[in-house]
Amino acid sequence: MISVDAALTQVLALARPLPQETVPLADAAGRVLSEPVIARRDQPPFAASSMDGYAIKAAEAERHAQFKVIGEAAAGRRFPAPVGPGQAVRIFTGAPMPEGADFVVIQEDVTRNGDLITITDEPGAKPNIRPAGVDFTTGTTIDAPRRLSAQDVALLASMNVPLVPVTRKPDVALISTGDELVLPGQDPGPDQIIASNTFGLKAMLEAMGAQPRVLPIARDTAASLHMAFDLAQGADLVLTIGGASVGDHDLVGRVATELGMERSFYKVAMRPGKPLMAGRLGDMAMIGLPGNPVSAMVCGHVFVAPVIHKMLGLGEARPALHSARLAEPLGPNGPRMHYMRAVVENAEVTAFDSQDSSLLTVLSRANALLIRAPHDPAQATGTIVHYMPI
Ligand code: AMP
Ligand code: MG
Repeated sequence: MISVDAALTQVLALARPLPQETVPLADAAGRVLSEPVIARRDQPPFAASSMDGYAIKAAEAERHAQFKVIGEAAAGRRFPAPVGPGQAVRIFTGAPMPEGADFVVIQEDVTRNGDLITITDEPGAKPNIRPAGVDFTTGTTIDAPRRLSAQDVALLASMNVPLVPVTRKPDVALISTGDELVLPGQDPGPDQIIASNTFGLKAMLEAMGAQPRVLPIARDTAASLHMAFDLAQGADLVLTIGGASVGDHDLVGRVATELGMERSFYKVAMRPGKPLMAGRLGDMAMIGLPGNPVSAMVCGHVFVAPVIHKMLGLGEARPALHSARLAEPLGPNGPRMHYMRAVVENAEVTAFDSQDSSLLTVLSRANALLIRAPHDPAQATGTIVHYMPI
């Protein structure tokens, strides 16, 4: 049995950053930018009005001053001639400033009579102009690697980048194992249960930016597992669920070894999740997750997330730890790292009373995994502890 930290180091060693591909801008959200993108234009490309009003010379912007309106500038349509002394151009938000004008008096500060306007309120010192390039200029860079947010997509669009270089999504084959499992929506027999963490992990993988493939459930026979591994071919990561303990029907380790898996480790000093295995299977990384629903999901957060992160080119980051005060005392921890299902609220964390690794109801109510180091002594209310948000 190895420590969580040692297991994480070995799991990360199985992962390689994936090559890049190009995707349309509209599909870029959530993807990882694989190389810096450089703006090839200024934004705005011209000095633009930031208000609806009248473009005039700043030197003439005084209360009671009068101007003759000589034309109009709207967004997408500039006024083609210069503005002289005593002249004004009706202007709207986003319109290019006409030559000769360097101030926009807002329409609320003006009264208009035919072609004549009078400034009736103090126009203030703010020119109401967005200078050319105030947002970004040619050469401005979005650095990589970076997971692209909705905001980043807006910025890329503004930079006129229709195709975005991103890291290819990790192809993850998900193999559930067990004679007792049926798919959600099917009619389970009296001794059967629904494959649940298969879909939890699929959702988790999608949120991480991977491309999961849910393979048909493998039965607890060597032949069925062989077939499942066959279907997994070409994946970057094979995730098996269940069948990894030492029971008579736990065949994942045996079959993977027959197929040439170089095992990195088996069993980690953690709770839940002890019967975790990992290794290399040809070009694929393999992680054998425990079958217990909570164990599988917790191992997903602790081990699979960092692997996907690295495959996406985001480096070897360990899960970020947050701190909170204990709302209730905790008893002493045993010899394994404990990931307790907990709720964090108003900077206080409370672990659930029941920590059984089969309880998805508890996991679903949790928003954090409270982390206890091996042999951590009892802790009083108010102690600062670490947790992982989930
Ligand atoms: P195993 O590691 O195969 O012995 O599985 C441990 C426990 O997890 C057993 O109670 C299984 O029925 C259950 N289990 C295994 N795989 C899944 C799955 N995909 N969804 C829900 N429960 C599972
Ligand atoms: Mg099983």
